[in-house]
Amino acid sequence: MRICRFNDDRVGLVRGEVIRDVTSVLDRLPAWRWPAPQGDALITGLPELMPYLEAAAEQAPGLPIAEVTLRSPVANPSKIIGAPVNYKKHQDEANADAEISLGREIKTIAHYGLFLKANSSLVGPGDGIALRFPERRNDHEVELAVVIGRTANNIEPGEALDYVAGYAIGLDISVRGSEDRSQRKSLDSYSVLGPWIVTPDEIPDPNRLDLRVSVNDQVRQDSNTRHLIFDVEALIAYASTFYTLWPGDIIMTGTPEGVGPLASGDRVDAEIEDVGWMSVDVRDA
Ligand code: MN
Repeated sequence: MRICRFNDDRVGLVRGEVIRDVTSVLDRLPAWRWPAPQGDALITGLPELMPYLEAAAEQAPGLPIAEVTLRSPVANPSKIIGAPVNYKKHQDEANADAEISLGREIKTIAHYGLFLKANSSLVGPGDGIALRFPERRNDHEVELAVVIGRTANNIEPGEALDYVAGYAIGLDISVRGSEDRSQRKSLDSYSVLGPWIVTPDEIPDPNRLDLRVSVNDQVRQDSNTRHLIFDVEALIAYASTFYTLWPGDIIMTGTPEGVGPLASGDRVDAEIEDVGWMSVDVRDA
């Protein structure tokens, strides 16, 4: 199943080249008063909603994907987790590029652990990327994004995939510089999630997916998740030893080599095997 959010917070199921509007199923989510429960309500309710989503899709007319504005398929994550330097060849290019390394020795995720991106940075492909400091270097990083489906605390790698709601494409946009990652990667629109969530039944092995990004039709990054240093199961389990993972939490699993600068007017096309493809426009904020 492929679940998207589009236009004015509509929920859709993607079937081939069309989207079926299944927003009516949101009426089945529990009403709540302040404070909001942890986690994204739609992702929390997904297991019970699935049959209703399927039924609603049968009744709904199909909208061509090209005619809608795709938003982030997760609306309210409790956190967005980043995986720094989780591909060896990205470590190599970072150490070879003074604009990335700033003369520091770049190590791997085994040294840095994880970082967090502000929830306010999250957008969908249709929202675009707004560069806030266009005079500085702002890089694209294409990453497999994991959306957590069930509350996870101190779990083992061997059970980690049981906690996944689905997969999406993540863009971890980054201003290069000396500031902490949590600041440089948290600007508004610097976390792009899309084009939709693909449920795990369609992706039996997330550690074997081609991922690619082009800027203005020039391929910049082209790799496969089999090169992850901490694979998907290891990342989920490791994250869950530090913080409880809630439904809707997003793990951006790290970027392969080929990161490079973006400028206003660029068009970013990102693709992950068995997940999909999305196009994102870049502008000055
Ligand atoms: Mn990254």
